[in-house]
Amino acid sequence: MITNFTDEMDFENRLVTPEYNESDDSSLEVSLRPRTLNDYIGQDKVKENLKIYMDAAKHRGEAMDHVLLYGPPGLGKTTLAGIIASEMGVDIRVTSGPAIEKQGDLAALLTNLNDGDVLFIDEIHRLSRQVEEILYPAMEDHAIDIIIGKGPAARSIRLDLPRFTLVGATTRAGQLTAPLRDRFGVILRLELYTPDELADIVKRSAAVLGTGIDDDGAYEIASRSRGTPRIANRLLKRARDFAEVMGNGVVTKDSASLALSRMEIDPLGLDNIDRLLLTAMIKNYNGGPVGLETIAAAIGEEAITIEDVYEPYLMQIGFLSRTPRGRVVTPAGYRHLGYPMPGTDTNSTQMKMDI
Ligand code: ADP
Repeated sequence: MITNFTDEMDFENRLVTPEYNESDDSSLEVSLRPRTLNDYIGQDKVKENLKIYMDAAKHRGEAMDHVLLYGPPGLGKTTLAGIIASEMGVDIRVTSGPAIEKQGDLAALLTNLNDGDVLFIDEIHRLSRQVEEILYPAMEDHAIDIIIGKGPAARSIRLDLPRFTLVGATTRAGQLTAPLRDRFGVILRLELYTPDELADIVKRSAAVLGTGIDDDGAYEIASRSRGTPRIANRLLKRARDFAEVMGNGVVTKDSASLALSRMEIDPLGLDNIDRLLLTAMIKNYNGGPVGLETIAAAIGEEAITIEDVYEPYLMQIGFLSRTPRGRVVTPAGYRHLGYPMPGTDTNSTQMKMDI
């Protein structure tokens, strides 16, 4: 029998979602954003490369080459685009793939740029085909062809554009069309952060927020943040509330740990939706292999969200693996949830964790 696990699950406002959600105060998110490459913690390879390309462009007095940033949400793609603009001393315009509906919308954005400016397009894989087509000559020749008039009187005119830098961000580089991908001179992949890097990010954010925190408190939050700065900042804000109400306002290991347990985030950063996903696979499909669509139907979440948001971290900590036949819960995943692996002694003394 298939168990329905999805009652009362709040997917939208999940505390450990790496995507921007309602609980994130947008002005706070902006104030926590580092503005220089020096303040941007981690991603050393990406920073080294960017620095070289930016220095070279500055030296030649040219706009920086077009940059594609890819990786899971919440890792700092928007932040990096802002840093590129401020390090190059230019302005940035921010938009997203789904927000540009018509060719005219993009033409208006492009013609309003100044020389050297950065145009940041988030979720660039979601641009429509028609819009994408005018991006090609814009990126390559700094010009667009627009049609004026209708019917037999219609004629095409070419508009010259300023020399701008397009910074595109995507969670899935594989979904970008080849002609678009080929037009980026610089393609950089962002990786999940280590707990040490996240602890530094948490300490920096605490300083910006004016909150006291000790090293162990920062590390406690960092190790439960799924490798993602956006989650680390969000958990820090909740831990700060706990520390203020229950202690002297300083975030320590104890107050952070208490706050996180109250929010049902376990020591590895899994919340009840991660546990639901793994449990559904274990209980309904013997731990897999099971197809992505089947898991999606079982827990009532979209396949694409499972792939982009939940799986990267579960794979990083070795609880889930992707095989050609489907997803599989690993022995470590079984152990963490307290279920015996199929084929092992079912009378084992392991206790089932309360989920
Ligand atoms: P993305 O565009 O990849 O979804 P963002 O750039 O919006 O991610 O980053 C989310 C939040 O995480 C930002 O508010 C920023 O404060 C923080 N952040 C991301 N990367 C870093 C970093 N390397 N150092 C410090 N803070 C970071």
